[in-house]
Amino acid sequence: MSEFLLGHEPLIRLVISAAVFTLLASAEALFPRRPQKIGRLVRWPSNLGIVALNTVLIRILLPTAAVGIATTAEARGWGLLNAVALPGRLALPLAVVALDLAIYLQHVVFHAVPALWRLHRMHHADLEFDVTTGLRFHPVEIALSMGIKFLVIAALGPSALAVLIFEVLLNATSMFNHGNVRLPAPMDRVLRWIVVTPDMHRVHHSIHPAETNSNFGFNLPWWDCLLGTYRAQPRDGHEGMTIGIEQFRTAHDLRLDRMLIQPLRGPASGYPINRESGR
Ligand SMILES: [Zn+2]
Ligand SMILES: [Zn+2]
Repeated sequence: MSEFLLGHEPLIRLVISAAVFTLLASAEALFPRRPQKIGRLVRWPSNLGIVALNTVLIRILLPTAAVGIATTAEARGWGLLNAVALPGRLALPLAVVALDLAIYLQHVVFHAVPALWRLHRMHHADLEFDVTTGLRFHPVEIALSMGIKFLVIAALGPSALAVLIFEVLLNATSMFNHGNVRLPAPMDRVLRWIVVTPDMHRVHHSIHPAETNSNFGFNLPWWDCLLGTYRAQPRDGHEGMTIGIEQFRTAHDLRLDRMLIQPLRGPASGYPINRESGR
């Protein structure tokens, strides 16, 4: 079974990703959480253009996917989990949870370090919040994230199957938690015990810096709660809140070419650790 999954990795990822995207895009049309002032026709070509660009770049630059690194690590005995003989049913969930913690910490660092914030702020500069926002990352951030993930996999030594499950989960939850979808409040409350919900992650896309610097989790909500970065709701309410950052607020800034040069434009601004006092 796991051989079949690993042998068809790119196809499995593509099929699940397309299915989750279609499901969420339909749910957004049927049960929107917020009315969108800027329509899909303005934002989606650029956001989906970035996805296409990132997919091609990653295939060219890093043809060995994360599961390939995990297979090499397993064969050579690299990493913590390859050094201790844990039963598979324990090692697999442990690896998925550990990889999720690594992604959480990476996200915090991308908010804290000015040069990294310049890359990551493109994700935050989207002026609406929907399923395509969850896929909108600067190509250099994507490449850096892949490099970091390779190092984490080499140090941790998860199985290739654990990495595949994690990657599929992360891709699906990233689209889910950016969905402009109205979930019944009791459902949101229950889901928040096990997964980051759209209402939880939307707080992270608020224009208020204190809210932008909260709810860093993409997959599991536990890290924010445990490490003190959890914020339940936005202060202006989900429908009243302003999405985005103070910089880059024109329709012009939503164009693909402008998005690509955003890291080089203007000051690093409000969010990193060296921000000016009072901001
Ligand atoms: Zn962020
Ligand atoms: Zn986000």
